[in-house]
Amino acid sequence: MSPPLKPIESDERLPEAADVVVIGAGMAGSSAAYALAKKGLQVALLDKGVVGGEQTSRNWGWCRQQHRDLRELPLAQKSLQIWGELSQELGLDTGFRRTGLVYVTTRPADLAQWEAWTLRARDYQMHSHILSAAEAKAMTPGSTVDWLGGVHSPSDGRAEPALAGPAIAEGARQKGATIHQNCAARGLDIAAGKVVGVITEKGRIRARAVLAAGGAWTSMLFRHHALSLPQAGVRSTSFFTEAAPQVTEGGLSMPDVTIRRRLDGGYTVGASGRGVLELSPQGLIYARQFWPTFRKRRSLLRLSIGRSFFDGPESLTRWTLDGISPFERMRTLDPPPDAAQIRMGLARLAVNYPALAGLKVAASWGGLIDSTPDGIPVISAVDPLPGLYVSTGFTGHGFGIGPAAGQLAADLIAGDPPIVDPEPYRYSRMIDGSDLGEPGMM
Ligand SMILES: Cc1cc2nc3c(=O)[nH]c(=O)nc-3n(C[C@H](O)[C@H](O)[C@H](O)COP(=O)(O)OP(=O)(O)OC[C@H]3O[C@@H](n4cnc5c(N)ncnc54)[C@H](O)[C@@H]3O)c2cc1C
Repeated sequence: MSPPLKPIESDERLPEAADVVVIGAGMAGSSAAYALAKKGLQVALLDKGVVGGEQTSRNWGWCRQQHRDLRELPLAQKSLQIWGELSQELGLDTGFRRTGLVYVTTRPADLAQWEAWTLRARDYQMHSHILSAAEAKAMTPGSTVDWLGGVHSPSDGRAEPALAGPAIAEGARQKGATIHQNCAARGLDIAAGKVVGVITEKGRIRARAVLAAGGAWTSMLFRHHALSLPQAGVRSTSFFTEAAPQVTEGGLSMPDVTIRRRLDGGYTVGASGRGVLELSPQGLIYARQFWPTFRKRRSLLRLSIGRSFFDGPESLTRWTLDGISPFERMRTLDPPPDAAQIRMGLARLAVNYPALAGLKVAASWGGLIDSTPDGIPVISAVDPLPGLYVSTGFTGHGFGIGPAAGQLAADLIAGDPPIVDPEPYRYSRMIDGSDLGEPGMM
């Protein structure tokens, strides 16, 4: 089942040419299209399904700097600045509210890790507050658990995944971009070793630059053009409840369960850090690169053979540009939710907050999180193929950092001074393994 999502209109006519074609209208692609259009560039934004239909509407809605991999923190900080003004700038509500985020725990190891992170993050002017047991209790009124402590990041917030992606895409259109849904990019148009456009299922668009922002499908697109891009999908389950008493106005992470207050008065609930790693042909190709991450997170991952194996983004399907591509065969990647995780989430909520016992599930869904070996995205020119840029691999963090990631991609394409140092996000590290450190906190 898909989560709620605000529908938006498509533009009727496919342009013959654009300055930039953006493949994929999730957070990465829509934010880049918006930033590019603001620079005055003519943009065509394509999605094989609908704007925001995959991860971007399926996420928890946390917009956080807290616990970021430090290489990603500058991008997260810029994003939080942009989120603060975005709804007003767009004239459309993204649902962003600077409510702060709270993490509480009963586990000494969590607290030690959070204290260490908070110290290191001071170098980035990030001032989260470590909570004593008494402070954690005071920040979670109604909870019956005696927390060991926690951490509070007041400058973080939450937004509504059902609204934000479509609002940003509409913002791009207000600035002159065209939006084409149910319009898969079958592949790149390449001439004399350079990208000169995109072949879509509805025709060709000439362009001087193409941004590949296809989420979990980006590696498949790259494979079609003999380009390497290590990506692995982790299937995750979320659900939201009917309206319920307010126990937090932002996001609250507890051991095994996280909740985020919604504009409709319910909670979006997720099982922290847990997921199903789908065994897939693509997974085998990149197994060596992902082995360190897998070892680190093994206790939280279950292995399974999912749809990806046969016809999803991680299959090794081949196609030609004049025939139906795998992107058209699966307009929306909609993995089934895991009923056991939903039961576990409801049970944890009831134990931690008696006032939330017996809540009804309003909707549940699955989502495939696309990850990179080092847990941070690739936002970069693709050096082996001039004219091609990529923004993908957000590893479960791309909603919150989407606005600045979009700005960075746009800066790189336009040749403008980048919003943050782009070095950590370079594509080359994916192919030569340079600086592929262990992933930071997830
Ligand atoms: C359960 C869950 C919880 C999460 N919680 C959070 C959170 O709280 N905070 C946070 O910051 N992040 C979170 N994330 C991660 C976040 O949702 C993603 O990192 C982010 O949405 C990725 O955006 P994207 O644009 O890269 O990918 P997507 O949103 O997946 O968009 C990619 C788009 O590309 C399209 N596409 C693919 N191939 C083609 C093609 N060939 N032609 C045309 N279109 C194509 C797809 O249809 C899709 O719409 C969560 C993710 C999940 C699944």
